[in-house]
Amino acid sequence: MSNVIQTNKVVSLAYTLRLANGEVVDYSEAGEPLEYLHGASNIIPGLEAELSGLKSGDKKEVVVKPADGYGEHNPELIEVMDIAELPKGMPLQVGMEVDFSDEDENVDTAVVKAISGSQITFDFNHPLAGETLHFSVEVIDVRDATAEEIAHGHPHSLGGEFEDEFDEEYDDDEDYEYDDDEEDDEDEFEDDDDDSYRKN
Ligand code: ZN
Repeated sequence: MSNVIQTNKVVSLAYTLRLANGEVVDYSEAGEPLEYLHGASNIIPGLEAELSGLKSGDKKEVVVKPADGYGEHNPELIEVMDIAELPKGMPLQVGMEVDFSDEDENVDTAVVKAISGSQITFDFNHPLAGETLHFSVEVIDVRDATAEEIAHGHPHSLGGEFEDEFDEEYDDDEDYEYDDDEEDDEDEFEDDDDDSYRKN
């Protein structure tokens, strides 16, 4: 029973993620399964729950409702800003992701939905909010987590810290950081046009 997925197991998972219309929005590369620590909320709850009890070699189709995935699309998270509120020279185009960081380094990522004159419409919802997610998964491996992995809440077998992989999810090599010299302003912008959906 040691290879059955349960709390405190490190799971290697090959997966393909499709939307209801069949569009593939994410997948693990061949030979590079996703690794996560089961029971530690490394992955969305609706998927994690359906993986419990599976073992190496098992395949499964999992349908996750928005509430158990990336949440419902919240219209209150759409914000229109005037370009004058944004840093000068900030590159903007529809579809681009922009990270807004506050002084505590909390990052909120928004997608540019529309540009109309000086008005920029940002959507702060997760790109997959409101979507029913269709996962095709194959369990590649299941092993016991180490005490350190359990303490950290993530696996360490990727050659680096798990959180690094996640922190870099919206990063790319053309990061643009903005520091506002003016007092009393929480603005720090990082621009990013990586449209990866891998975040959880
Ligand atoms: Zn760690």
